[in-house]
Amino acid sequence: MKPKYLKISDRKLKLPVFFPDATRAVLRTLDSRDIENTKTPGVLVNTYHLYRELGKKVLKNFNGIKNFMSWNGGLISDSGGFQVMTLAKRGNQGKITDKGVTFRPSGSKKILLTPEKSIEYQMLIKPDMAIVLDDFTPPNSSKEQARDTVERTILWAKRSKIAFEKECERRDLKIGQRPLLLAVVQGGEYEDLRIECTQRLVEIGFDGLGFGGWPIKKDGNFDYKTAQIISQNCPDDYFLYGLGIGKPDEIVGCVDMGYHIFDCVLPTRDARHKRLYVFDADKIENINVRKKDFYYCYNPDKERNYNDKRPIGEYCDCQLCKNYSRAYLAHLFRIKDVTALRLSTIHNLRFYSILMEKLQEKD
Ligand SMILES: [Zn+2]
Repeated sequence: MKPKYLKISDRKLKLPVFFPDATRAVLRTLDSRDIENTKTPGVLVNTYHLYRELGKKVLKNFNGIKNFMSWNGGLISDSGGFQVMTLAKRGNQGKITDKGVTFRPSGSKKILLTPEKSIEYQMLIKPDMAIVLDDFTPPNSSKEQARDTVERTILWAKRSKIAFEKECERRDLKIGQRPLLLAVVQGGEYEDLRIECTQRLVEIGFDGLGFGGWPIKKDGNFDYKTAQIISQNCPDDYFLYGLGIGKPDEIVGCVDMGYHIFDCVLPTRDARHKRLYVFDADKIENINVRKKDFYYCYNPDKERNYNDKRPIGEYCDCQLCKNYSRAYLAHLFRIKDVTALRLSTIHNLRFYSILMEKLQEKD
């Protein structure tokens, strides 16, 4: 049966969901109450950063990140591999072997991230969903390089699963008390590798799969074909997760292919760069996410906005739109007040939560 909900400690979240990236257990300029008020159901945190900055002691003492950041919604932790891996692959700051990723952050000692360590840290973070360490297939990889990353992704997934079972046994966690465990499909643009990776991960057995790697094709368009290959080759009862996806229209496209979970830095990062997402509608009821050009990006920095009394979105019930004018936001940006970033982030998060509410209405 297809997943209908994402179960978190005391509630079930309706699918699909979008979780913004609270990399270091905070969404820049917002606290956890602000995030709740945007009706954002959950956040994604970064295992590598939290482990480095907090260490085991704090994570243990607070019994996980939810308590630490006073967050009552859903929580996904990534494997911690992506940041380390991109730096290791881009230059000579690190090395990837079957054992794991070795990395030397500037000015600090060498770090080795293994599949087992990633699971161990995530169990201390206590997410609702954990992600296993994978070997990222870089864009423009040759088939041989892509094949190597797939083999390592599968090897690491097997080891992660064993480590996860051990951790759960050690903590005496029964089935309903364990986090969900997802593996990530690699293989770049090679269809046969993506199919093989999907099938071999399913053989190991997970709660779901993520669309990993770079989702944008050489022509700049979103790679819907690969998204579909993964969805067609995984069991019906699996959660499907679009890692780092994405733009509102890409989310709609992936939901139509059966994807349930998304995370991306876009709404928060764009907000800080004066890109506010606005639905092309006057009321929430009139928003149609299946319509072409169902949204646009609003830039407060245009002179015509300097004296505009209207809210950013007529339909919007966020703290910015309910209380303030376009003119006031433009002023806050002009004087470089941090409130501009905060209110814009709140608005963009509410845009994404409305988008997901609209997509949930489908069934
Ligand atoms: Zn708003």
